[in-house]
Amino acid sequence: MKGGPLAERIRAEVADDVRELGEVGLATVQVGEDPASAIYIRRKHEAAHEAGMSSVDLKLPAEISQEELVAAVAELNEDDGVDGILVQLPLPGGLDDALAVAAIDPVKDVDGVHPFNAGQLYLGRPTHVPATPLGIMALLAEHKVMLDGARAVVVGRSDIVGKPVAHLLLQANATVTICHTHTDDLERHTLDADVLVVAAGVPEIVTADMVKSGSAVVDVGINRVEGGLVGDVDPDAAERAAFLTPVPGGIGPMTIAMLLANTVRAARYRLGLLAFPGVSL
Ligand code: NAD
Repeated sequence: MKGGPLAERIRAEVADDVRELGEVGLATVQVGEDPASAIYIRRKHEAAHEAGMSSVDLKLPAEISQEELVAAVAELNEDDGVDGILVQLPLPGGLDDALAVAAIDPVKDVDGVHPFNAGQLYLGRPTHVPATPLGIMALLAEHKVMLDGARAVVVGRSDIVGKPVAHLLLQANATVTICHTHTDDLERHTLDADVLVVAAGVPEIVTADMVKSGSAVVDVGINRVEGGLVGDVDPDAAERAAFLTPVPGGIGPMTIAMLLANTVRAARYRLGLLAFPGVSL
């Protein structure tokens, strides 16, 4: 299950939408100078520009106070040229991720991390949903992977991947198990999975013999090792699985595409073309 072709299609649709809507803007906030984060942010800006969006790349020093960070986010909330706001997490020491995220206007929270949007997802009424889980669901749908009644196992319980994808799978009527660092006998769970989503950030934590024959396996992991990038799943698992996403070229491109799609939706909220539930505009 390569992500590239579907991601390209979605990005072309986003570019059409941007032309139709006029101005659509994405803002990113990076605190400190983590080089890996800077690369991810640069890619997001490149993709936004390619789709015809404007973008704001706010870089703040690591020594900034919590109040100054919240004020910077508040300024972006008020800026009509900005539809989507991303705060790169985790923040450097001393700054509270949760406070920064809560400062984002939920309508502009294109990462779907604000408690309002996370709560909407939990209640089965998704508004802004994190891009990676959306990309996973879109790729599974593209390949017509049956979710209704399927046993789905998610390895990882982060707020940005594991938990939200588990909720989306539940909403699609899968029977969902979430595994994490305290899970005993991971293999017992993975072997049972018709759909396996692995987002642990541990190189090849899922080996080929841990995968059920004929299953669909989504490898979210991106791990830098000597010699390049590897995922969380041994590529040999492709011999048993019916579908496996490659790393790189699987969920990575889908994440960028869905972030752009989220930003277009945020612009529709701003323009009053879509109602944002529960929040007065
Ligand atoms: P995270 O570190 O916040 O969470 C990892 C989760 O995996 C934790 O909940 C932890 O309990 C679980 N875990 C770790 N080791 C485990 C083990 N041995 N057994 C069972 N569970 C274990 O990471 P994250 O932000 O969710 O990202 C996960 C991976 O996905 C990383 O490699 C990250 O780089 C990658 N990622 C990729 C994309 C993309 O666009 N492809 C997007 C986001 C994250």
